[in-house]
Amino acid sequence: MEHVTILNHPLALSALTVLRNRSTSIADYRTATRSLASLLISEMLTCLSLKSSKVITPLAEFDGVALSTPVMAVPILRAGLSLLEPFLELIPAAQVGVLGFERDEITSTARCYYEKLPKTPANTLVVLLDPMLATGGTLSQAATLIKESGGTSIVAVTVIAAPEGVARMNRDHPDIPIVTGAVDERLNGQNYIVPGLGDFGDRYYGTASD
Ligand code: URA
Repeated sequence: MEHVTILNHPLALSALTVLRNRSTSIADYRTATRSLASLLISEMLTCLSLKSSKVITPLAEFDGVALSTPVMAVPILRAGLSLLEPFLELIPAAQVGVLGFERDEITSTARCYYEKLPKTPANTLVVLLDPMLATGGTLSQAATLIKESGGTSIVAVTVIAAPEGVARMNRDHPDIPIVTGAVDERLNGQNYIVPGLGDFGDRYYGTASD
């Protein structure tokens, strides 16, 4: 599939299995989210560029490097917030924008109800954080909003993607690479990813009704 990297790392694969397991406790679910998020975000950030940075060790001069790309994380409420802390542990200096989407019951499409995006300088790498790429409607709208705010370099990190969501992103935003833990089989009639892991946000925040 175009523009998608599936992380094939033993730690990622085992953390994803913990997330998929319906019997996983909320504490283990959060721990697995944190470790999988760090791996996915690290993989995505291999695209960052470096500039030279000379330092002096206790013994000698050293020609080192420092990050030269400014980075902004944009979690999509509410599930995307679960990926923000691992992100900021890796890039503590990152800017953060926030987007909130809800399902419009009349049109059945995602509607943006909250937008707080810093003005995006052209050279900033914007990393969209949303654990479940289902239909792709939300992620596609989020990417459009970021482009409208000046973002030119955008990537997306998801935990699981459906082929339908990947196809939608490839069609609407072929310039946006996606890193994910898996591309699953399909969406069901309620737009849940199958086999998936259920409702990511409900499981992460402990708000599932059953
Ligand atoms: N959002 C979720 O939380 N789970 C899915 O399967 C699809 C969208």
